Amino acid sequence: MQQLMDAPMTPDAQRERVQAVYVRLNAAYGPLRAPPGDDPLAELIGTILSQSTTDSNSGRAYARLRALYPSWEEVLDAPEDEIYAAIKPAGLGRMKAPRIKQTLREVLRRRGELKLDFLGELPLADAKRWLTSLDGIGLKTAACVLLFALGRPALPVDTHVHRVSRRLGLIAPRVSAERAHDQLEAALEPEQVYTFHVAMIRHGRRVCHAQRPACAACVLRELCEYAAAQHAQ
Ligand code: SF4
Repeated sequence: MQQLMDAPMTPDAQRERVQAVYVRLNAAYGPLRAPPGDDPLAELIGTILSQSTTDSNSGRAYARLRALYPSWEEVLDAPEDEIYAAIKPAGLGRMKAPRIKQTLREVLRRRGELKLDFLGELPLADAKRWLTSLDGIGLKTAACVLLFALGRPALPVDTHVHRVSRRLGLIAPRVSAERAHDQLEAALEPEQVYTFHVAMIRHGRRVCHAQRPACAACVLRELCEYAAAQHAQ
């Protein structure tokens, strides 16, 4: 392991580390199966609502929005203040309400309909490019849409995946979450992406906390650069 940790971060070395971590995560949290996909436009709007809030708050906001406006056409036609009131449980409504309207408007302008199913047929890189060219949509949101709604092997890197990956040494210390998407995704097999994403989030929430990670109880301890550095002190 020491040799592995001292190795320069070539793509092969990175892949070896990611695969070693994947095996242990899968044993600890797996097997994980992706639930059936949803409407990709619903996933996109739901992911906008989920920014900077809890799953339960964004879920309530989404349910209220769809109860008031069952179709995306109705959401697009609704006054912004009404959307703001509907999505209030998700917070940041003054930012999210116009973003939702703008996103729907742009999808309709480009596609002629309020549907994103066509993304399932595009090469993965093109599908990511299409989504991230929408105003305010980053790689994480694009990957959520592609992975959860369409079952594509795109890896969302949220704060947990980023923090745990950095501590383990799966990415270099200064690699941003944005850049980590491509690096981690390339080190995984397509069928490993969903499990890796979900297991890393669970691990970040339950064990590798932002403050005081529980290294003594961690199944990844022997693979971890952070733990090795703590031990060496
Ligand atoms: S050993 Fe500690 S720092 Fe490393 S992954 Fe586990 S909990 Fe996180």
